[in-house]
Amino acid sequence: MAIINENYLKLPGSYLFAEIARRVDAFKNENPDADIIRLGIGDVTKPLVPAIINALHKAVDEMSAEETFRGYGPEQGYDFLAKKIIEHDYKGLDIKADEVFISDGAKSDTGNIQELFGLDNVVAVTDPVYPVYVDSNAMAGRIGNYDKDAGKWTNLVYLPCTAENNFIPSLPDKKVDMIYLCYPNNPTGTTLTKDQLKVWVDYARENKAVILFDAAYEAYITEKDIPHSIYEIEGARDVAIEFRSFSKNAAFTGTRCAFTVVPKSVKAYTGDGEAVDLNRLWNRRQTTKFNGVPYIVQRGAEAVYSGEGQNQIAETIKYYMENARIIREGIESTGLKVFGGVNAPYIWLKTPDGYDSWQFFDKLLKEVHVVGTPGVGFGPSGQGYFRLTAFGSRENTIKAIKRIKSLKF
Ligand code: PLP
Repeated sequence: MAIINENYLKLPGSYLFAEIARRVDAFKNENPDADIIRLGIGDVTKPLVPAIINALHKAVDEMSAEETFRGYGPEQGYDFLAKKIIEHDYKGLDIKADEVFISDGAKSDTGNIQELFGLDNVVAVTDPVYPVYVDSNAMAGRIGNYDKDAGKWTNLVYLPCTAENNFIPSLPDKKVDMIYLCYPNNPTGTTLTKDQLKVWVDYARENKAVILFDAAYEAYITEKDIPHSIYEIEGARDVAIEFRSFSKNAAFTGTRCAFTVVPKSVKAYTGDGEAVDLNRLWNRRQTTKFNGVPYIVQRGAEAVYSGEGQNQIAETIKYYMENARIIREGIESTGLKVFGGVNAPYIWLKTPDGYDSWQFFDKLLKEVHVVGTPGVGFGPSGQGYFRLTAFGSRENTIKAIKRIKSLKF
């Protein structure tokens, strides 16, 4: 008899996006002519830029000739891409090519990384949170049971990030071992300064904890004191793993390429207290379970770092960030409190008095036909907040904001 991993049964259904789709469909059935604008999407809408497309075409042609054909590549990724990543993203930060693992996505890597850790580790996440960190630990059986009423896992440490603490998580009052941080943050669009991030690096060093730092939105940082990499913080090399992705900076959401940096100096411990390199374990994990990103795709990712590629993706990012400005300023003008949207493509707003996240969702959908994402779907501290994204078209963004401004709260 095959026995299942019962931890899967503890997972609440993927309620958020299913529920959004259900409400939008019900509304559409009753109002077939309504022009619905979606500012809830986390996917990009601008296509791959020409520099990347040219590199992809060239690599496709290489695959057609015996001399240039590539079969299985290194599971960790090709050196040509790892070198570009180091030169460009980690200049002066003392990261080596064999500390970079190229993969098919930050989603898979942030979901898989927990396999390296024992089940007794105490996990901390900021709240609200990108759900992959939580669900992957739940599947492994590391965070207890889901308490439906509280909307919380019984053994997970939640670090609330709300307007009250300026979205700066406080150190936990109980000792934690694995800490997920995501900056610039999805869903709040907020960031930490170097000093604020240093508090966490120091905590991890003092407590022999590991920080799992998701920097998927790094390319959207516009302000000066905001770290692009956790390795800009002194001491982080010994305690942090960093996840990056080509999805949001270069439109690889469908093409799939990302990377994870695991410095050789990052350690976790055996039950007897012996230090073990996580780089070695991640290498073992990847070489066993992953067969690398396609050569063609890695050549496309390499083109992100060419002069042309850099200029072209900068244009796209500028376009989304102009959308972010339009949303932020538009919402602010209604008197609502707005966060994010300066160093991230996400705008996080406080819902008006008397509206929780879902009530505000319904009001926007029914009265002005705009779809966003209820904050409570990202965790209990998201209640009373709402997420809009800057990944839509300019035309739709302007139209949606004009409609929201016409609302009476
Ligand atoms: N990390 C965060 C915080 C995200 O918001 C997303 C996608 O929305 C991802 C990772 C996934 O990235 P990828 O497309 O590389 O899997």
